[in-house]
Amino acid sequence: MKYRKVEIKDAMAVVWRIIIFVTIEIVTANYLLEKGLIWLWIFIIFLLLAWIVSWHCGYFGYECVKCGHKQTITFIKEFLTINLVNRKYLKCEKCGKWNRAKLLVVN
Ligand SMILES: [Zn+2]
Repeated sequence: MKYRKVEIKDAMAVVWRIIIFVTIEIVTANYLLEKGLIWLWIFIIFLLLAWIVSWHCGYFGYECVKCGHKQTITFIKEFLTINLVNRKYLKCEKCGKWNRAKLLVVN
């Protein structure tokens, strides 16, 4: 797989998805909370989160700072590991070391 550096348009792709997420939540909150359907509203939050995280998995990869190995990660890993703005605290699949892996875009 090929990778490239993160550009402004990639950051914007993330921002757009967050805007869509917040907008849908605000619009549905008005309607659903009034009817007492809070669990449905929470369910929609999880659906949208799953959508953003799975997109993020396919769009971005990470480069190990110890050995330079580049990898993509699974949905579960994406969800459970800590994001550090443009880095992610990850265990490298090649050298096995925990490191602050650099964010890259899958090309
Ligand atoms: Zn490594």
